[in-house]
Amino acid sequence: MPERTPYLAANWKMHKTIAEAAAFVDALLPRIAATQHDVVICPPFLALSEVVERSRGSAVRVAAQNMHEAEFGAFTGEVSAPMLVEADVDAVVLGHSERRQHFNETDEALAAKVPAALAAGLEPILCVGESEEARDAEQTKAVLERQLQADLAQVEGARLAGVVIAYEPIWAIGTGRTATPEQAQEACAFIRDVVRERGAAADAVRILYGGSVKPANAAELMAQEDIDGALVGGASLDPEEFAAIIDAA
Ligand code: PEP
Repeated sequence: MPERTPYLAANWKMHKTIAEAAAFVDALLPRIAATQHDVVICPPFLALSEVVERSRGSAVRVAAQNMHEAEFGAFTGEVSAPMLVEADVDAVVLGHSERRQHFNETDEALAAKVPAALAAGLEPILCVGESEEARDAEQTKAVLERQLQADLAQVEGARLAGVVIAYEPIWAIGTGRTATPEQAQEACAFIRDVVRERGAAADAVRILYGGSVKPANAAELMAQEDIDGALVGGASLDPEEFAAIIDAA
């Protein structure tokens, strides 16, 4: 089975000005100087270049929080994959539940965004996850399967290993309610099975858990067989807390 390098991503959402992003990177880098993990910071668009420049030569890579599927065009307010690549951005979060919920991000758009990111040389971090109602109705696996099949429909099996998948149960995001390690492992193992059925090198795909990850629960979650890292929101805004989560992986 291939070794999967632990992957820790900081999703800042709409937090941090350029100056605050710079201060964060300066505080984080000395704390993670020895890490062998993949560390990714996802700042708002305006702070991308600052984080790229400040983190050059370190373990930190940089991801955008969204992109449009087209290369260019009349899409006011949007940013394309080639624009992100020109800014030396490495990856892009796609399908975060907040974008699905508040900005009408559809599986149809994601089916175009994921291959567009790959084609441009960006690593997609595709977020999937069920609502509380779906979990209560025992629909978790059905929701995950539907999202994965739709969002990855245009990605050839051979390229799937280049996609990072984040399992983010909506009821655990920003709520302080974390999935139990068993719930998270079950969902991540299921995601790996779905990817395997697509003919991919599923054992090479990094699958992250996201939802109220903190230094106190990170080690137990990431010790699970199919959990290869974390997508961290609130706790990633503090360099000490994020460094502690990186250490726990
Ligand atoms: C997220 O933003 O993807 C997330 C998981 O947030 P939080 O860690 O705050 O729950």
